Amino acid sequence: GAQATEVGTVVIGSGPGGYVAAIRAAELGQKVTIIERDEIGGVCLNIGCIPSKALINVGHHYRNSVEENPFGLTTTGTLDWAQTQDWKQHQVVEKLTSGVAMLLKKHHVDVIKGEASFNDNETLNVVQEDGHQLLQFENCIIATGSRPVAIPGIPFNGRIVDSTGALSLPEVPQHLIIIGGGVIGSELGGAYANLGADVTIVEGLDHTLNGFDKEMTKPVLDDFKAHGGQVFTSAMAKSAVQTDDDVTLTFEVDGKEQTVTGDYLLVSVGRKANTDTLGLNNTDIKIGDHGLLAVDDSMQTNVPHIYAIGDIVAGPALAHKASFEAKVAAAAISGAANAHDLHYSLPEVAYTHYELATTGEDLASVKAKQLDVKMTKFPFAANGRALAMDAGVGFVRLITDKATNALLGAQIVGPGASDLISELSLAIENGLTTEDISLTIHPHPTLGEALMDAAEVADGLGIHI
Ligand code: FAD
Repeated sequence: GAQATEVGTVVIGSGPGGYVAAIRAAELGQKVTIIERDEIGGVCLNIGCIPSKALINVGHHYRNSVEENPFGLTTTGTLDWAQTQDWKQHQVVEKLTSGVAMLLKKHHVDVIKGEASFNDNETLNVVQEDGHQLLQFENCIIATGSRPVAIPGIPFNGRIVDSTGALSLPEVPQHLIIIGGGVIGSELGGAYANLGADVTIVEGLDHTLNGFDKEMTKPVLDDFKAHGGQVFTSAMAKSAVQTDDDVTLTFEVDGKEQTVTGDYLLVSVGRKANTDTLGLNNTDIKIGDHGLLAVDDSMQTNVPHIYAIGDIVAGPALAHKASFEAKVAAAAISGAANAHDLHYSLPEVAYTHYELATTGEDLASVKAKQLDVKMTKFPFAANGRALAMDAGVGFVRLITDKATNALLGAQIVGPGASDLISELSLAIENGLTTEDISLTIHPHPTLGEALMDAAEVADGLGIHI
């Protein structure tokens, strides 16, 4: 047989899990090889987080330019979609992915383009364009991510697209139908509604944006419905038929069949772990439910020198979770500090028209754990900066321990929620109280003052409400 090349630490996959693991392991003294079958940067940089945020941003600009505003500005509101797509790909995605390639090089990480699978607990077979090679590794970090799942009978093809297709449509749809109103479906639906499309979301659960409570999602849904959006909940997609010009979805609500016709259909009903083509059956690695790999708090699988991170392990499929786990695994391999995942708060964000963000405890977990807490809200309608931005919608909610006033959780809906949530995660991670937050001077006028204001209200010393 072929001779195996000996490598130190090998990382499979170069998404926000894999590339971060590779860089950190190199920083901690490992000799690192990373294997990527597709593009450096994984789903997140190429076909996920980043290009979706680029389109969401254009959606905000477009809507601002065509919608009547209260401050008296009139603009023409024309959009060159080809240029939008070009900008997204070449000035956003490729700038970032080439930056990651440069960082890997700077840290002397060997990059192999190819598809890896295990021959046994110590050996990978990497299939490349011009043949294959065997790598014998000391340690391995699996970071192979996930891919969209299709609904049986509604395969991706033509006008029926997955999230990747929805990011690169040849035109702004007249009417976009979306099966699945989770974060991905709601974000893309919101973006295309802002770009002028009619959008119909068909969701199987009795609510969209699962993971965020109804009080948070109400402003988002009210806005969506006021801008060409329509939502069917407890609705089961049955079949889809497409012609050259359109696609018709049949779905069932309350036992009654209905149809909706649009020009594109996005199926965003979940993702599947990329663990089924890794040859794991040639190893002793245990595979759990849904193809997820079981790991301990150092991201170690049951085979001690093999680690797994990101979308292929339990927890929400989020880039920052993958990157955090990457640093834990790299530290564990290197015998360095912080080799255990001890986080208290994992922020989750939906980049809908009004952003949603949550960290730490939320209404559901407080109820489930029967925590003795105090809840405090502060509205953006009382925040000067939000009003100056014509964005006085939504609120900050703090969940604090009744006995100690320590912050346990927080939710934000409204302008800047995605950025504001980090201050509250920092507070939770460090056991800070509402007094710690309110005694920290926040610059004026900023959206961040809403956090200080909410903390003052929690302390019974509210100024602006
Ligand atoms: P991935 O990013 O999936 O990377 C895995 C890599 O491994 C891929 O490049 C793949 O080609 C490679 N690979 C797989 N198998 C092999 C093999 N056998 N050999 C070699 N290479 C292999 N998350 C957020 O936190 N914020 C967001 O705003 C956000 N928006 C999203 C929007 C969309 C439309 C989508 C689809 C996802 C979004 N996500 C977001 C989720 C985020 O993209 C994922 O959680 C994240 O990419 C997971 O990182 P990862 O490193 O585990 O895997």
